[in-house]
Amino acid sequence: MAEHGRRRWRLVLTASPLQGHMSPMLHLATFLHSKGFSITMAHSDLNRPDPLNHPGLTFLPLRDNLSATADFAGAGQFLQTLNDNCRPHFQHHLVQIIDSQKEASASEKESIVVIHDNLMFFAGSVAADLGLPSIILRTSSASFFPAINIIPQLLEQGRFPVQGPNNQILDNEEIVSELHPIRYKDLPFLCTPIEQTLKTINMIITKKPPSAFLWNTFEFLEPTGLTHIRDHYQVPVFSVGPLHKIIPTHSTSFHKEDTSCISWLDKQAPRSVVYVSLGSLANVDEKISTEMAWGLANSNQPFLWVVRPGLVKGFEWFEFLPEDLVNQMKMRGLIVKWAPQKEVLAHSAVGGFWSHCGWNSTLESMFEGVPMLCQPFELDQKVNCRYLSDVWKIGVEIVAERGEIEDAIRKVLVGKEGEEMKQRAIEIQEKVKVAISHGGSSHNSLEAFVDYILSL
Ligand code: UDP
Repeated sequence: MAEHGRRRWRLVLTASPLQGHMSPMLHLATFLHSKGFSITMAHSDLNRPDPLNHPGLTFLPLRDNLSATADFAGAGQFLQTLNDNCRPHFQHHLVQIIDSQKEASASEKESIVVIHDNLMFFAGSVAADLGLPSIILRTSSASFFPAINIIPQLLEQGRFPVQGPNNQILDNEEIVSELHPIRYKDLPFLCTPIEQTLKTINMIITKKPPSAFLWNTFEFLEPTGLTHIRDHYQVPVFSVGPLHKIIPTHSTSFHKEDTSCISWLDKQAPRSVVYVSLGSLANVDEKISTEMAWGLANSNQPFLWVVRPGLVKGFEWFEFLPEDLVNQMKMRGLIVKWAPQKEVLAHSAVGGFWSHCGWNSTLESMFEGVPMLCQPFELDQKVNCRYLSDVWKIGVEIVAERGEIEDAIRKVLVGKEGEEMKQRAIEIQEKVKVAISHGGSSHNSLEAFVDYILSL
């Protein structure tokens, strides 16, 4: 039990049901528990974490009632319903804890702090109503923040496309002067109806600042983004990434990991394999996935491809691919439904990661010094892709067309350019390792965060 003077602490963490949000929150929970804090992990019914994998944490499943409202007109509506539905149960639970404190002896009294994912904004609002401090964990890149924050201003100035699809704007290579090196085409929410965009931005941005932020990034990587965030909110911002490396944690995966791919990797030559995964949410159509398959088959490099059931719209798995193509692919590659990604990226046979550039995937690849092929879809992915290819220079942006894919795979895995990218990836990897080791920026930031909680 973390004690400061005579005080004891209960941290009520609230995780979002998305894989890329849940994992960092569980890593944070495990770390804070190791520091002696009592942890309650509130989560929705949808995508529950497995308590058996996280002994020591108390889990609080919130009644989300989502199955009763299964049809959502987009991510914004889903988020609003999730928040509206989880709020009463969460509030009831906190009120119960507070009431129980009234009868507790001085030595048993606990100070309560709410730490929540920014998508679970109901938790911050309940905390404010009950007079409790709240802290937000952000699991996307710091560079994404200025790119969303500027959208209302661009809309006002008529510099943001609100009706779509408008291919001219979607291909607009011009740089947004305030956001160098981000181009108009890298901005999120392009061509989404204006009301929907503004509503979603309001949900993501957090208008009323919490007591503090935790950001899953590190100082040397995103100084500009972090400065923008600190200037904007004027509250402490602790950059504590990459959270998946701060403490060993059991699997945080919602899906069963197919570990057979590790023994397959064991048989491949060093740095020869391209690992392909588009994360937990992205969907592609049949045409794009067929191009991906041809690109992989024609590249003549071994590959490990995660085809998550549901990845390809309208199909169970990859049954639509022509038989001769599948046979050709099987000669060099392995297709699995879900991989132990961090283990895969750490494997010496992996030479490149073809990714949608989700932030967790980006951090995991960086930590292992693996160069990337970047195929972003939405939200922060295009911003991350731009930074990977243009600023950190450890990735190439690809278009899902078989010839381009084939070239890009060769470029990253066997070309001179790939060798240079690998060198830069290793330099970044070394800096990340320094950041999380004793005296490094993320390590210090986590220690400062613990002191910050104790000072509340
Ligand atoms: N992941 C995994 N196995 C897979 C594919 C993905 O464990 O086969 C994990 C990956 O390691 C990462 C998360 O799923 O931690 C995906 O998060 P990210 O932020 O990259 O993308 P999102 O799924 O949120 O789009």
